[in-house]
Amino acid sequence: MIIHCMYCGHTIDLSEAYDDYQGPVRCAVCKSLMMIRVESGQLRGMDAGPGAKAAPAALKARPTNPG
Ligand SMILES: [Zn+2]
Repeated sequence: MIIHCMYCGHTIDLSEAYDDYQGPVRCAVCKSLMMIRVESGQLRGMDAGPGAKAAPAALKARPTNPG
């Protein structure tokens, strides 16, 4: 199944082993940890992992850097 990183939007391709799974998944791009819940191949829930440094909304706000 395919999920999208809640932080950077990267496509994460999970194997069939995750069709019934509840636990952490780490994004290979931004290294963020997410807690997902999958039932019968359907994503039922996604939350920020316990070690999340910043909320997803905060990542969108980039400081301006003139010059
Ligand atoms: Zn990511």
